[in-house]
Amino acid sequence: MTQQKEKKRTSVERYMLKHEIEKLEARRSFNMSTSLISLYIPPGTRIPDITSQLKNEYGTATNIKDKSTGKAIQSAISSILSRMKNVQKAGENGLVIFCGITQSNKTEYFAIEPPEPVAIKLYRCDHIFLVDHLKDILETKQRYGIVIVARGGSTIASVQGSKVDIHWDEDSHVPGKHRMGGQSAARFQRATDEAAKAWYAKTAIKMNEIYLENNPVEAIIVGGPALSRSRFLDNKEVDFRLREKVIGVYDVGYEGLQGIRELLEKAEDKLVDFEIISEKKLMKRFMEHLGKDSGLATYGEKFVKEALEKGAVEILLVSEDVDRVTLEIKCGNCEYVKEESIKTKDYNEFIKDLSDRKCPECSNSRMYIESENDLITELNNLAKKADTTLEVISTDHDDGSILYNTFGGIAAILRYKFYDSY
Ligand SMILES: [Zn+2]
Repeated sequence: MTQQKEKKRTSVERYMLKHEIEKLEARRSFNMSTSLISLYIPPGTRIPDITSQLKNEYGTATNIKDKSTGKAIQSAISSILSRMKNVQKAGENGLVIFCGITQSNKTEYFAIEPPEPVAIKLYRCDHIFLVDHLKDILETKQRYGIVIVARGGSTIASVQGSKVDIHWDEDSHVPGKHRMGGQSAARFQRATDEAAKAWYAKTAIKMNEIYLENNPVEAIIVGGPALSRSRFLDNKEVDFRLREKVIGVYDVGYEGLQGIRELLEKAEDKLVDFEIISEKKLMKRFMEHLGKDSGLATYGEKFVKEALEKGAVEILLVSEDVDRVTLEIKCGNCEYVKEESIKTKDYNEFIKDLSDRKCPECSNSRMYIESENDLITELNNLAKKADTTLEVISTDHDDGSILYNTFGGIAAILRYKFYDSY
């Protein structure tokens, strides 16, 4: 259960990261100088090492010819250092920090704990924030389990994108089916059958250990000769949580890395469909409740938010195309404040336009963004409070388009009947 939740959280984090990257990409340094800092800290890094590096860079910045650039870098470094005072060590997946004086003429600070580990250590000053490595993380695929089981030996691995980790690979030393001379055929058959059974049980126990403890996977593909596969999957040692995750079984002739390659090739279509299938299943559940008029489905921002606040939502379905940001615009000269909603993809354009806009009250041209709040973040916060699972549904399939086009991109499956009628 915990693991299941863990997985969901990650899918939402990925989605949020995508939005965060879009915002970061819209930032430029205030005078187009190389004064925006991008800092990538891998997991396990000692924070004192980072702070002493930053202090060095602070000193180096005094040598920069353009004084305003040097000062901007120093102010960004100070800003990071003051925030790091309370940080003991980089998070489980490391930390990525972006800081500097942006086109808004304010020092902006972003700290991101990505859903996958930061793979590089990097300090860089540029006129933009360097988000490429975050984008790489975003492209990281889901992790799948690969089990090859045969009478002669088994292999247990996990695959993420093009990365293959072999966790266990062992020969069974179970004798072949052909008996050696001088033994009773029946007795030999019984003995080797017992040995094979014990081998399948051992493989199952290893698999449980690997996938339930340190290497959680989204789905499992099982390969091997047909008889071995079925005897393995029928073995009572296979944990029921993992049995549920088996999405395909295939014949493969090899063990080890060669077998994994063969198996991945055969299962390719299945793996591509996997994410879509789980999304389609959720949409089907939602549509069924709606069709039966069970009262356990609702949609639309207003109703869903209300249900969330009451703790009535079991699963919150949000289309990936829902990307509204609400911005609070303020005048730097008078008391003028206005709230405006835009799409994340229009963010860059909006910031550009804002610098040309004049305050409708006092005609001053120093309009700025006081605060911003995107709908997904807001929904995610509400969902966390109510212990609700948030599922981001892609629009790559029909059911996903229906969620966006027909239901406004926000729908919920409820824990209990919430409205009598509406
Ligand atoms: Zn004004």
